[in-house]
Amino acid sequence: MPLDPICKKIVSDSTEYVSDYGGKCYYFCSPECKQKFDVLEKSVIRLKRNLGDKEKISFGKLKRDIIKPGICTLCGACAASCEYITIEDGAPKLVGPCKACGVCYNQCPRTITTEEGLIGNFRYAYAAKSAIPELKGQDGGIVTSLLLYALDEGLIDCAVVTTRSKEEPWKPMPIVATTREEILESGGSIYSHSMTLEALMSAIKQGMHSIAFVGTSCNIDAVTKMQKSSYGFLHLFMRAKVLKLGLFCMDTFSYEGIKAVLESYGILLENVEAMKIRKGKFEVSLKNGEDRVFELSEFDEYRSSSCKFCTDLASENADISFGGVGSPNGWTTVFTRSAIGYEIFNEAVDSGYIEARHLTDEELEKVLNLAKMKKVQMYALHMREKA
Ligand SMILES: Cc1cc2nc3c(=O)[nH]c(=O)nc-3n(C[C@H](O)[C@H](O)[C@H](O)COP(=O)(O)OP(=O)(O)OC[C@H]3O[C@@H](n4cnc5c(N)ncnc54)[C@H](O)[C@@H]3O)c2cc1C
Ligand code: SF4
Ligand code: SF4
Ligand code: SF4
Repeated sequence: MPLDPICKKIVSDSTEYVSDYGGKCYYFCSPECKQKFDVLEKSVIRLKRNLGDKEKISFGKLKRDIIKPGICTLCGACAASCEYITIEDGAPKLVGPCKACGVCYNQCPRTITTEEGLIGNFRYAYAAKSAIPELKGQDGGIVTSLLLYALDEGLIDCAVVTTRSKEEPWKPMPIVATTREEILESGGSIYSHSMTLEALMSAIKQGMHSIAFVGTSCNIDAVTKMQKSSYGFLHLFMRAKVLKLGLFCMDTFSYEGIKAVLESYGILLENVEAMKIRKGKFEVSLKNGEDRVFELSEFDEYRSSSCKFCTDLASENADISFGGVGSPNGWTTVFTRSAIGYEIFNEAVDSGYIEARHLTDEELEKVLNLAKMKKVQMYALHMREKA
């Protein structure tokens, strides 16, 4: 009798839940197990396509990515896996005709070759947009829609979000939002560091028990550390539950820097309606309806130094992650990661707050490519020195 490869139960080969993979039949006890297997299978195919078919991986790539920048640990895994590699003068060397089979690259402990290694573990990936007409979001307005759903349903007492300062337009102001109006006002991205953790601590001190927290990958890491470290603050407030909503993030710039660059073009921040970073450009929409586009490199000197060392594009430690890359304009890419994240997102969809479909393989590939760019920052030491 066959074994269900997901739950390991013995099943009958006359079960209606069957999948074919690599010419072999797999049998399942339930539609859930079959679905899990099919998703896994898709993920393997996607990964192979992303990492394998498009480029031949040769020793040259191992040399370029790992050996030349000095990241090689001299573990010898590459030499052990190929007769054409030897370790000489303290570095792996090619001593035969490389067939570009990619084996050495995939054995090396320093290369990043899996989907999980690039964007972390997730359950499902979606493209989604808000179904709330009055809502203005950065992409699909999904973060804001989800917060509204959670507040309306009484699932959260408050949300830690970032709004624009009234006194200094576009200066990030982290707040503890408890009303629909405050949440609606927080939609949109501000490309400067926001001290969201101060607002989180304030929410906890105010006695909030169920808190949705919105932040960039590094903000989410700070909350995760507070939850997990034995010295973490959140241990002291056991009753506070934090739902971590993570934003994809490539860079932030100092508030003063953004202001200075825009002012050098005669643009005052109080006249700016929205900002967006996309495909190497910094796009600014003005309140008078005009759109201006700048090279992102113009803001380089104001890029936060910590961002040069950051390798987490997709908020890997969040319950749900959100970004613009991958999905069409006006939609948000969403990764549900934890069980609670998956549940709340799908409830918001079922309740009519959000419209969602699964992300296509091509769309996910765009996220993986951007994540790859960010991960290899860690290894591009020579580039860091120049930056
Ligand atoms: C600094 C920064 C860099 C980003 N870089 C990328 C990127 O390179 N690629 C990509 O695909 N996506 C990036 N994003 C995410 C993207 O801009 C959107 O936030 C995301 O797609 C969600 O869109 P939405 O319309 O669903 O969110 P919305 O409904 O518009 O909600 C946005 C939420 O973001 C919060 N927020 C705004 N600014 C900040 C901030 N500075 N710190 C913490 N929280 C903030 C607001 O409180 C609000 O709750 C970045 C976001 C930020 C803040
Ligand atoms: S393992 Fe493959 S890619 Fe690496 S050196 Fe040998 S033949 Fe070339
Ligand atoms: S497998 Fe990677 S780390 Fe190990 S010796 Fe080869 S290049 Fe260096
Ligand atoms: S790039 Fe990294 S360090 Fe910089 S703001 Fe984004 S998540 Fe934080």
